[in-house]
Amino acid sequence: MESSRRALFLREMGLAPVWRLRVGEPAGERPDPGIDEPAQNGQTPAVSAQSVGAGPDPVETPAMPEPGDRAARILNMDWQQLKEAVSGCQSCELCKTRTNTVFGVGDEQADWLLVGEAPGAEEDASGEPFVGQAGRLLDNMLASIGLKRGANVYIANVLKCRPPGNRNPESREVAQCSPHLQRQIELIRPKLILAMGRFAAQALLETDATIGSLRGKLYRYRGVPLIVSYHPAYLLRTLSEKAKAWEDLCFARRTIADL
Ligand code: URA
Repeated sequence: MESSRRALFLREMGLAPVWRLRVGEPAGERPDPGIDEPAQNGQTPAVSAQSVGAGPDPVETPAMPEPGDRAARILNMDWQQLKEAVSGCQSCELCKTRTNTVFGVGDEQADWLLVGEAPGAEEDASGEPFVGQAGRLLDNMLASIGLKRGANVYIANVLKCRPPGNRNPESREVAQCSPHLQRQIELIRPKLILAMGRFAAQALLETDATIGSLRGKLYRYRGVPLIVSYHPAYLLRTLSEKAKAWEDLCFARRTIADL
């Protein structure tokens, strides 16, 4: 990865020059050779050397609910059928206020699946997830671990339509839209899911637990390893949490390297 891109991201994260990837060293060995420990205050990152295999067994979580015929139909769709189902979906009120549905974007055989909450205004206008300011941060975060949107990465949201005024998703909307995401996951069969933010984590893990309590552990969604991190939009507002998001990315990178 281009070192200037990494430097840019680390600066954005407020981390440079505390953590940096060492040139030529493989990711995924323990203790993590690619990541220097934070030198500032001598504290060990909350999620450090122990990732897959070194800690307790991954936590198995239940799958999202999929009641009724509609869900069963969705769960049998191929990519084309699923895209058409989403673009014509009228299963909740959001269809009345959306400009575009936002299906998801990227490599349909990606190892990495990033899941956000719901489209915002720019995504609603363009039909692509994470194209606004949060999306630019997300692109820089991906670059910091050598990844790029569309190349071995798929990006999707829990909701495919924008909640008006960027209000929080309602549970009925999440329930109606979840089979779409579930089918995307089944079709992609990623090696790892990064759930970004409370809504993605809670929807996929079927929990009310806080992000703070969910971070730093390895879960499974229908057998697929899943890691929870903060939402990029939250990171834009809460600079102090960027270091934790960096830890989560390193944890995810180690996890996928160890698979
Ligand atoms: N926030 C999200 O959760 N998803 C997007 O696509 C954009 C912003």
